[in-house]
Amino acid sequence: MAQPDELTFAPLGGVGEIGMNLSIYGLGKGQQRSWLAVDLGVSFGDEEHLPGIDLIMPDIGFLVKERKNLVGLVLTHAHEDHFGAIIDLWPRLKCPIYATRFSAALFEAKRLAEREPPKIPVTVVPSGGSIEIGPFSVEFIPVAHSIPESHALAIHTEIGTVLHTGDWKIDPTPIIGPPTDERRLRELGDAGVLALVGDSTNAVRDGRSPSEAEVAKTIAALVKSAKGRVAVTTFASNVARIKAVADAARAAEREIVVVGRAMERVVQVARETGYLDGVQNFRGGDLYGQFPADKVLALCTGSQGEPRAALARIAGNDHPQVTLNKGDSVIFSSRTIPGNEKAVGSIINGLVAQGVEVITDRTHLVHVSGHPRRDELRDILSWVRPQILIPVHGEALHLSEHAQLARTVGVPKVLSCRNGDLVKLGPGDPGIIAELPSGRLYKDGNILEDAKSRAVVERRRMGFAGCVFVALAMSETGELADDPEVDLVGIPEKNGAGEELDDIVFDVVVSTVEGLPRARRRDPDALAESVRRAVRSTLNEQWGKRPLCLVHVLEV
Ligand SMILES: [Zn+2]
Ligand SMILES: [Zn+2]
Repeated sequence: MAQPDELTFAPLGGVGEIGMNLSIYGLGKGQQRSWLAVDLGVSFGDEEHLPGIDLIMPDIGFLVKERKNLVGLVLTHAHEDHFGAIIDLWPRLKCPIYATRFSAALFEAKRLAEREPPKIPVTVVPSGGSIEIGPFSVEFIPVAHSIPESHALAIHTEIGTVLHTGDWKIDPTPIIGPPTDERRLRELGDAGVLALVGDSTNAVRDGRSPSEAEVAKTIAALVKSAKGRVAVTTFASNVARIKAVADAARAAEREIVVVGRAMERVVQVARETGYLDGVQNFRGGDLYGQFPADKVLALCTGSQGEPRAALARIAGNDHPQVTLNKGDSVIFSSRTIPGNEKAVGSIINGLVAQGVEVITDRTHLVHVSGHPRRDELRDILSWVRPQILIPVHGEALHLSEHAQLARTVGVPKVLSCRNGDLVKLGPGDPGIIAELPSGRLYKDGNILEDAKSRAVVERRRMGFAGCVFVALAMSETGELADDPEVDLVGIPEKNGAGEELDDIVFDVVVSTVEGLPRARRRDPDALAESVRRAVRSTLNEQWGKRPLCLVHVLEV
């Protein structure tokens, strides 16, 4: 008798980290599985650990190999950590993409902003609707989050239903779009849900996330009482927040000026898709200077301290249109993403030093997370009553807290997995059955590099300790045919005693070569290695650091 098909799940990104989400679901057995991918996002590099790397993406080598079995890619919503890698990686997959209207429109706007936009077709599915994709029937269930049209996916198969929550929260008054569809989630629970694969971001936080409507109230009060100019910065994709700021500005009789390309792009897409219907027209940055100080509000990009974004330039008095002075205020309607604290801090300090009042979520409810806290996690588990819970979308601590919470509310099976684990959901006992290849890719300039490649490691080392170049011209008999060439890059000129380091390195190169037995001097690789070691250990003595050292041996 033929064995029944298996339903499997594997995260290829987004587990053990926040960012670069990519999950796959498999139906079939052994080598004969159909795969459905959910989301394809990026993480952001940080300058200190990954110099020169802006974006990190999941390694999709496994899916590329399984391309003929990949039936589609479904997007839960249009945040970068869920859809930011598509433009770079989709050309390797070329599978159908499914998304709702706003996500598709934002993707299209982003695609068209590329220098050479690749053609990437997206099939639009209505919010609340369903679509058959290979052997999977995928239902888009509206959930509240911090961008319009976020969806939990109910993935129905012959083996059972999986609820992939995507990013969500419970917000009875989300300002834009419907609240999380509790009724439909309860119906799914009544019909029976095999597994819930869920957002763990805020699993360490007790209680419930406040509503967008409460944030809107705070912003309205702050704008109303402001005397001078006001600038508000927030995540560009948070259209509900943009609407809240617009309403606050209208109530205070201020014109809104939009500053920053990402913000302009989202505003345009939100207007096209009807999410800013009834909201007053916004002005371009060129009109900012024409309004009196108490009649204008600048809505800016740059809440994460990005050096090229609007706010950093305004704070640095380097923006061609928008300026702030003593008595003006800036509202950070955002949270500083870990890793960006220094950049944000330096902007805040710059503004405060100029006499600008800075308001952040430290003292006022000017921002709220789009992810569920513990009471909300309990709610969804009680509605859906899954047989299995798999925590995703979080670092190790978030995942383990989510797992622990699920155990305490009595979820029969809680499965913790890591990127690359292939988990059998059913039929029969669930558990990890295999490991799939997984990893990271770095976007380095316009090249996608394997994270294991040497380039970034070498750049980090060079950034820390510089580099020494040595060129040796050797005769056939193994003698120095000329003086060595020595160049020190990124290394101090003099040691503590005031002696020139390049002289010291030159001397050690010559004495090392001359001190070697003739046979070793005639072997270019052995010679280079000896010189390299001597140079690095000398600089370590002189300076306390071992730079990169490249030795070239020329036979003349
Ligand atoms: Zn996310
Ligand atoms: Zn999100």
